[in-house]
Amino acid sequence: MAQLDIRQIPVLNDNYVYLVREPEQNAVGVVDPALVEPIMAEAERLGWAITHVINTHHHGDHTGGNLEIKKRTGCTIVGPGHDRDRIPGIDLEVNDGDTFKFGAAEADVFFVPGHTRGHIAYWFAGADALFCGDTLFSIGCGRVFEGTMDQMWSSLSRLRALPSETRVYCAHEYTQSNIQFAVSVDPNNLALRTREAEVKRKRERGEPTVPSRLGEELAANPFLRADQSDFQAALGMAGADPVAVFTKVRQRKDSF
Ligand code: ZN
Ligand code: FE
Repeated sequence: MAQLDIRQIPVLNDNYVYLVREPEQNAVGVVDPALVEPIMAEAERLGWAITHVINTHHHGDHTGGNLEIKKRTGCTIVGPGHDRDRIPGIDLEVNDGDTFKFGAAEADVFFVPGHTRGHIAYWFAGADALFCGDTLFSIGCGRVFEGTMDQMWSSLSRLRALPSETRVYCAHEYTQSNIQFAVSVDPNNLALRTREAEVKRKRERGEPTVPSRLGEELAANPFLRADQSDFQAALGMAGADPVAVFTKVRQRKDSF
């Protein structure tokens, strides 16, 4: 199965842009280019010629570099067909259930609305890699701006069902503040406390906390635990509808 070489580039305050290379056919993708210069500089340093921009959603901190990178490299811009009008320079529209061929690798495309109404995620099963933009974060999830709480819970539930060894390449370094919130709603969760200590150590050393493994998220991310009885009990919502629990937790986070 095709491997991927994945490089993480921190830009702006807390965004991660990913440079992804499929070595057999030398495809090079940029996932959610917030901007241009640091991405082009890193690609040049590596000697990688960009062939694709791969977008998860339309927000400017994910598509801001699209047009200029396309102009300089002639790359193909891949993004959600549902949102074609808001993805600058889109060439290849992908939708739920599609297989996106990237060199010798391929990604399954998932439609995951909620943060925006057209958000998608890319799962490279052969590389255990999930690029989920602003849908799932480490110990958090994106704000529900355009979709409904119901949609966001469904989207997260689909991502949650992927293999537990999957690496979650989300688009922001929000883990530490997410953990502060998570501990406030799920204080007795040992997996969360363990992750809290690990993340603290990593941030003190200036290291990224992303990607995490999906299995770690299942155990410690409150937004993936809305249907779990111990978490519902901790919130005083035992037996409640998971969407109601998710909504409560998301609203609390919004005002945390
Ligand atoms: Zn966003
Ligand atoms: Fe973002």
